Amino acid sequence: MDTLANFINGEFTAPVNGKYIENVEPATGRVYGEIPSSSQQDVELAVKAARKALPTWQAMPIEQRAELLFALGAAIEANLESFAKAESKDNGKPISAARTVDIPRAASNFKFFAHAASQFASQAHAVASQAINYTLRQPIGIVGCISPWNLPLYLFTWKIAPALAAGNCVIAKPSEVTPKTAALLGELCQQVGLPKGVLNILHGTGDKVGAAICDHPEIRAISFTGGTSTGAAIARQVAPQFKKLSLELGGKNPALIFADCDIEAAVNQLIRASFANQGQICLCASRIYIERSIYPAFRDAFVEQAQALTPSDPSLDSTQMGAIVSRPHMEKILSYIELAKHEGASILTGGSSLKLNGRCQDGYFISPTVIEGLDNEARCNQEEIFGPVVTLQAFGSDEEALSLANDSQYGLASTIWTQNINRAHRLAEEINTGIVWINTWLERDLRTPFGGMKNSGVGREGGEEAMRFFTEAKNVCIKYK
Ligand code: NAD
Repeated sequence: MDTLANFINGEFTAPVNGKYIENVEPATGRVYGEIPSSSQQDVELAVKAARKALPTWQAMPIEQRAELLFALGAAIEANLESFAKAESKDNGKPISAARTVDIPRAASNFKFFAHAASQFASQAHAVASQAINYTLRQPIGIVGCISPWNLPLYLFTWKIAPALAAGNCVIAKPSEVTPKTAALLGELCQQVGLPKGVLNILHGTGDKVGAAICDHPEIRAISFTGGTSTGAAIARQVAPQFKKLSLELGGKNPALIFADCDIEAAVNQLIRASFANQGQICLCASRIYIERSIYPAFRDAFVEQAQALTPSDPSLDSTQMGAIVSRPHMEKILSYIELAKHEGASILTGGSSLKLNGRCQDGYFISPTVIEGLDNEARCNQEEIFGPVVTLQAFGSDEEALSLANDSQYGLASTIWTQNINRAHRLAEEINTGIVWINTWLERDLRTPFGGMKNSGVGREGGEEAMRFFTEAKNVCIKYK
């Protein structure tokens, strides 16, 4: 049994209440570990440690702070294989994805924000011959970072790295569904000599330790990634304390496929965009709109490739599609597929869970599922399913495509597939999503603003946006005449 501990004040610590919750391997359905079911008392200990660490961390020369963050990134790279194995086991994702995407990106997050710390600057505003204003960008103090299970270490470090780079001390909580690599990160903090109390990692459920982090009066900012309803609950909770709040929430991302696109490239990329990480990426395409004249050709090619993608044991090098993260999540996805049938859909491929043999016989697997025949108002086109399920619809004009894409409570990411540069620019301007990819998907540059509109979130992460979020701006005005 792999028993995890909280990481408080640079030490691995059992939860004060002595309670644990089970950790399940999704590919086998078996419990393989336990994690602290932390509570408000553990948050109190973590805040005490962060409070003590804060003056030294803030006073540390930027070069030294950046070196420590860089060392953390390098340490993750040096442990790539063990981290990738742990991530794949904990989450059910293919080991190849953990090895080439999740863990390298977690390392990059630290290295990128190590550089950002040394490049971060603020503005000055001169009033000619009278006065000068300059902006101080000061660390907030103690901040909370709460992350989801779909890209565990990747998203955990995407918050922690800028928070630390900006000079804050951090109380961080990974998802209770995928806690393992966050625990391993604590070991690397010890290894590289991160001062005690600068980063504290607490495990447990959202309603207990997550809510206690949001509620603590000394934690002055919350950076949250997760579901939209959780984001709404957190916003309600922290509003009376006027904390800074960054929310990265759910999506229902449209893909617009025009007749003039490179169909082969669009099919290949959309297969990845729909089914990567078992469709459990907030940026995955889930509503695919296809210009009517190419609908049959696109659909047939897309379904053929989806059928060729078979989920298998995530620990095998050859596996392209792994397990769904948990039984409750698998049941939620399957319930949406049943709903689609009731809503009058045709299931073109997939549509059910899959039973594997051997080690993974009790694991959580769903075949790539492609659905057609639903109206845009159908719940399966409006609600986030967050699994390997996409719907196809035809459109007749640019205006219709845009209106279908924008007819959603969400506004995270979209993709547009066309060779017409005028159309691409016009639609990019008019589509209501925080991220627009044209003839590509998930092409990431860590300097760009990252986040969604409408119910997909508030604020932006990435590059300077993250550094700004994790600092307070203070204007200083000097009158000299
Ligand atoms: P979730 O909202 O259930 O949980 C996310 C985190 O919040 C977990 O650590 C959880 O323990 C914690 N939490 C739950 N209730 C809480 C509360 N009341 N107070 C404080 N913390 C609480 O989300 P999930 O199921 O882990 O992740 C899937 C969701 O995340 C999907 O909706 C997906 O779209 C979204 N997501 C968004 C982005 C983005 O960048 N916009 C990225 C990845 C995932």
